[in-house]
Amino acid sequence: MFDHSMPHPLLRTEAFIGGNWYRGERERRTAISNPATGAVLAEVVDLQQKDLEWAVQCAYQAFPSWRRMVAGQRALLLRAWYDEIMQHVEPLAEIITLEQGKPITESIAEVRYAASFIEWFAEEAKRLYGELVPPHMADKRIMVTRQPVGVVASITPWNFPAAMIARKVAPALAAGCTVIAKPAPQTPFTALALAALAEKAGLPAGVLNVVPTTDSEMAGNLLTSDLRIAKISFTGSTAVGKKLMAACSGTLKRLSLELGGNAPFLVFDDANLEDAVQGAVASKYRNAGQTCVCANRFLVHRSVSDVFASKLAAEVQNLRVGNGMMRGVDQGPLINESAVQKVEAHVQDAISKGATLVCGGKRHPLGGTYFTPTVLTGVNRTMLIAHEETFGPVAPIMTFDSDQEAIDLANDTRAGLAAYFYTESYQRFWRISEALDYGIVGHNTGLISTEIAPFGGMKESGVGREGSRHGILDYTELQYICSHIG
Ligand code: NAP
Repeated sequence: MFDHSMPHPLLRTEAFIGGNWYRGERERRTAISNPATGAVLAEVVDLQQKDLEWAVQCAYQAFPSWRRMVAGQRALLLRAWYDEIMQHVEPLAEIITLEQGKPITESIAEVRYAASFIEWFAEEAKRLYGELVPPHMADKRIMVTRQPVGVVASITPWNFPAAMIARKVAPALAAGCTVIAKPAPQTPFTALALAALAEKAGLPAGVLNVVPTTDSEMAGNLLTSDLRIAKISFTGSTAVGKKLMAACSGTLKRLSLELGGNAPFLVFDDANLEDAVQGAVASKYRNAGQTCVCANRFLVHRSVSDVFASKLAAEVQNLRVGNGMMRGVDQGPLINESAVQKVEAHVQDAISKGATLVCGGKRHPLGGTYFTPTVLTGVNRTMLIAHEETFGPVAPIMTFDSDQEAIDLANDTRAGLAAYFYTESYQRFWRISEALDYGIVGHNTGLISTEIAPFGGMKESGVGREGSRHGILDYTELQYICSHIG
């Protein structure tokens, strides 16, 4: 818990709008609790519509001078922000763990991961090249340039409270856009701490605005309809993504959507099973299974499924569950009670339809929202767990007999974010990776996220990519200039 006799150096409880710490036109506050203990950490301002309109105005006013600033200068400011974050890794990580619940080592990794996007896009700002096209007429010259789209509204979830914001804000600012960031209501303090460091780094007023509110409906309606906003960049569930996409059609806003997954994790009969089990644990149980790319379905060749299941269960039973602030903890609590209820419902549904519980399957003795790491075998397509994101620490194992069956099972979903497969065969590597309808494919690894690669989904897992040289392009418009030279 925050020690009020000695304020946390990065704790900010007001919104950050137009370069000022802002309490709202009519100050309202909401209490933020620690999912590990249920204790209130602090109260944060809870903005209303008028306040958000003010944030939009500030971002809109800041846009012309920010876009005109030479790219190298924007890059220096982003680099200064990166440096500030890297000098505050531990206090930022502490805020993440306290409001989100993940183990402190994972929070430290998240802060570094978030910062890596700011560093990467600081560099990319200087490489937003255009084109000179060979003309179609002797007296014409044709240029293509990239212009910033304008004011961007970012809406992000609670599961990576620093990284999800950095993946949007960094490329947007690098491209010359200004931003209004609405953090998830559960995790505003990480976003505000990032804003405090941006302020310290010298980001001009209005370029980045952070607007905590519990009224997501109001925020969504305002941000998708206001004519001063050019683009919505959203990370969250597919259901909300579709709603925002429909709402954006009225003003034809640009959209980036990073939505839900239903990642298959394939283990072929020639896989290195020790490696596959390590990859499975890393992918499935990180952040207590609350990641969009975490393995949701384990598809294992029948001939190795018993060995895989028993090795996985042995590892999973060793995971230490507890308060993420305690060193040595592998899995913290789930974000809230309804998350636990969803996990319980998936496990009960699977068992009622014939799955076997190998370990876990129930709330953890620590109480609250802790859940015991779980492994299920005998899972099939009739079960909820095969079709919906569980977003919890449950590994459901299904079997297959042929490569084609594995591919069919893997692609049997409207999601297309991440997929993983383990094989030692070079030929199978090519066949399987090309057959998987997923934006991100991990071969012989369960960890795939990095700022240097394009992250995003096919099908109903999203629109656009974050990270890599592609990530900044989504915040630009192409402009073609035709010049008559006489
Ligand atoms: P969610 O319910 O879609 O919420 C995401 C954010 O959107 C929250 O801040 C939420 O606020 C807000 N929101 C909800 N309805 C809104 C509306 N009508 N207008 C504006 N904002 C609205 O998702 P979640 O349960 O928090 O997050 C988990 C989901 O995110 C999973 O599906 C996961 O796979 C996905 N995810 C995807 C990626 C990726 O990169 N593809 C990364 C991380 C997570 P409220 O809480 O107030 O509703």
